[in-house]
Amino acid sequence: MIKFLDLQAINEPYRESFHKSLDELVDSGWVLLGKNLESFEREFADYCGARHCVGVANGLDAITIILQGYKQLGKLKEGDEVLVPSNTYIATILGVYHAGLKPVLVEPDPATFNMDPSRAAEAITSKTKAIFTVHLYGQLSDMEGLLKLSGEHNLLLLDDVAQAHGAHMKDGKKAGAIADASAFSFYPGKNLGCIGDGGAITTDDDELASVISAYRNYGSHKKYYNLYKGVNSRLDELQAAFLRHKLLNLDEDNAKRREIARQYLNGIKNDLVELPFYSGGEDHVFHLFVIKVKDRERFIEYMNEKGVQTLIHYPVPPHKQEAFTEMKDMSFPVSERIHREVVSLPISPVQTTQDTNYVIDVINAYTV
Ligand SMILES: *Cc1c(COP(=O)(O)O)cnc(C)c1O
Repeated sequence: MIKFLDLQAINEPYRESFHKSLDELVDSGWVLLGKNLESFEREFADYCGARHCVGVANGLDAITIILQGYKQLGKLKEGDEVLVPSNTYIATILGVYHAGLKPVLVEPDPATFNMDPSRAAEAITSKTKAIFTVHLYGQLSDMEGLLKLSGEHNLLLLDDVAQAHGAHMKDGKKAGAIADASAFSFYPGKNLGCIGDGGAITTDDDELASVISAYRNYGSHKKYYNLYKGVNSRLDELQAAFLRHKLLNLDEDNAKRREIARQYLNGIKNDLVELPFYSGGEDHVFHLFVIKVKDRERFIEYMNEKGVQTLIHYPVPPHKQEAFTEMKDMSFPVSERIHREVVSLPISPVQTTQDTNYVIDVINAYTV
C-alpha cells in the first residue's frame, strides 16, 4: 500500500533530536513563551525574509489574529468586507468570520486553483478593506496581480500560507514576506509540520507584530497587565523546538516534492486525467499534487484496488457546507466543478522514486 502521507516516516529522522529537545525542556521547567519559541520566531522570520514572526496555536488562529490585530490598530472594523477565495480550505473563511468581518468569496483561476485578480477586482465594493488570498496546494497566488490591485484600492493584502511554506516568487521574495501579513499552519501534515498543532504570523509591520504578540497571550505584554481583550493562542516550547529541527530541512523537503511532481507531470499520460498547471519554478512547493478526473469515485476505487491511497481536497466547497447555510444559494461554478473533480495523489519528501513510478504506471493503465 502506498500511503497518501506517511507521517511516521517523515518524523522518524528527527526522533533523536526530538528526544533531546524534550529532555532539555523537562530539565528547564519552562514550557511556554520561552527560549525555543523566541529562537524559532527569529529563525522562521529570517527564513521567510520577514521582520517579525509571532508563534500562535494553529493556522486558523493565525488568520483570525492577523485580522483582530488590524482591528486593534483601527485599520479594520466590524463588518468590513474581506475578499477570500471560494475554493479554499474552510479555515480561511472561518478566520474572517471569527474576526467579525464579512468574507466575500471570489472564484479562482481554473488553471491554478488560486484567486483570480480580475475576478477579485470585480468583487471590490466601498466596504472592501482587505484581500486574504490562499496559496492553494502549495502554489503561490498571482501576487504581482494582487499587489497591484490592493495598491490601487488601498486594501490590505494578506495571505494564508498554510500550504506553501518556502514558496517564492521569481525575484526570490518568499511567502511570508510578500503580503502585509501572512498566516502559517504547522499542522502535522503540512510541508513544515509539528507533532500537534502550531501556527505563526509573519509581517514587516512593527505595530502589528507588537499587538499580536500580546493578543495571542491574553492581550498581555507584561504578566497580569492586559492591553487588549486577547485570546490564549500560544505556540508551546516543545512544538517550537521540534519546528526548529525540521525548518533546517524545509528547502530540501520542498525540492523533493517538486522532483516527484516533475516525475508525475512527465510520466502521467492518460486522457482521462487532467494534470495541474506548473510554471516549473520555485513558486510551487507541492503541498499537494492535485489532478482532475471526471468519474472521480471510480478512479479512487481503482487506485485503491491497486494499493494507492488518494484523498480529496476538498469534497464540499465552503459555500455548500452546512456551517454556512447563509451562502447555500450562492453559485460559484468554477469552485463547484473543482470540488467535483479533484483527486490528490501521494506526495511527500519520503516518497521513493519507485513508489512514484508505480503510481504513474497504475494511472497510465486506467481506462473507462
Ligand atoms: C491547514 C490549513 C489551515 C488551518 O490550519 P490549522 O493549523 O489546522 O488551523 C488554514 N488554511 C489552509 C489553506 C490550510 O490548508
